Amino acid sequence: MHINPTQLKQVDRQVRRLISCGNFYGTKLKEAGVDGVSSEEDFLALPFSHKEDLRLAYPLGLMAVPEEEVVRIHSSSGTTGTPVIIPYTAKDVDDWGEMFKRCYEFAGITNKDRIQITPGYGLWTAGIGFQNGAEKLGAMVIPMGPGNTEKQLQFMMDLKTTVLTATSSYALLLAEEIEKRGIRDRICLRKGVIGSERWGEAVRMRIRKELGIELYDIYGLTEIYGPGIGINCRYDTGMHIWDDYLYLEIIDPETGKNVPDGEFGEIVITTLVKEGAPLIRYRTHDLSRIIPGECPCGSHFPRIDVIQGRSDDMVKFKGVNFFPKQIEEILSRFPEASSEYQIRISHLDRRDTMRLYVETNGSVDFENLAKRIGAEVKGRIGFMPIVKVVEIGVLPRSEKKTKRVIDERYE
Ligand code: ZN
Repeated sequence: MHINPTQLKQVDRQVRRLISCGNFYGTKLKEAGVDGVSSEEDFLALPFSHKEDLRLAYPLGLMAVPEEEVVRIHSSSGTTGTPVIIPYTAKDVDDWGEMFKRCYEFAGITNKDRIQITPGYGLWTAGIGFQNGAEKLGAMVIPMGPGNTEKQLQFMMDLKTTVLTATSSYALLLAEEIEKRGIRDRICLRKGVIGSERWGEAVRMRIRKELGIELYDIYGLTEIYGPGIGINCRYDTGMHIWDDYLYLEIIDPETGKNVPDGEFGEIVITTLVKEGAPLIRYRTHDLSRIIPGECPCGSHFPRIDVIQGRSDDMVKFKGVNFFPKQIEEILSRFPEASSEYQIRISHLDRRDTMRLYVETNGSVDFENLAKRIGAEVKGRIGFMPIVKVVEIGVLPRSEKKTKRVIDERYE
């Protein structure tokens, strides 16, 4: 993919504005000797930015407009260290809503739908993002926020919710509850819009099967508006990305160079029209690839693959680099195993051991299943884990992100 002339002009405008406002980014660009961008070569010479840089700008160092133009801030979860604060202008909030509305439209959702929103509200961009877009669409919003499964299911039945928005783990939890209570025929859901967490094909298939709904993956991150910057269409051939608001690159995380379309690498995003806190070549650490060619839906918005993991999720075990996603893919080949799993790596008796906990519904020979999974991991990734098969429901579920890898080696 190459940056087009319109995008180039937009980046040039952003860069000049940042330098003249002298915010955190402007100073950084000036120090790098940048004064504008007039070719793709210029663009590719712009310095990357990292989450660490944004943290250094805490609290309001990213603000690129006079304060009276800022209407809201959001903040990334900051589970480690200083949070990142992103200021939004009224236009930013509006642009984000337009992008999100487009996501719903790509998913075939209309103003006749009733959308139950289960992601969190507040500093987090999730809940309010889903809501903004739904209101722009003219749909009926049911702003539940997270948790309280009892009430979620009650409202889902009584208000005849047609669209569920959730993280994949919460959608799975709800699907399991619906199954357990035998209330599926009282549920009117037809679509699910699932965001903010990478998820494997196995989880997808289970949610789809248990709820009998179409599923859509939404992409986005707090630093770049929030969720809603891309979604898959009904042909399900990857997520279309709104390149009239963003320019997306895929780079080799080691060399920093763009990789050819179709190859996996790290997603880097530049915002084209964002006012409150524009980002230039922001390294997301999300791994994906550009899907080459045209989508059967005829849309010209470029597509990226399902997020494969994070470049910093990479786990090194016995000299082999792997991603939890690879384990997920192996488990999806075993219909006897559920999509839930946990990897625990410890350092015992002076050597590293990996235990892989897998759930099954109990009607199989646990030992035999463990052996077969172990052999598959050895064959495909290159090391032999100690596989522990447990009954379904034993592994922890969470309403937010489920922690898949527990590395006790460095504790
Ligand atoms: Zn499409």
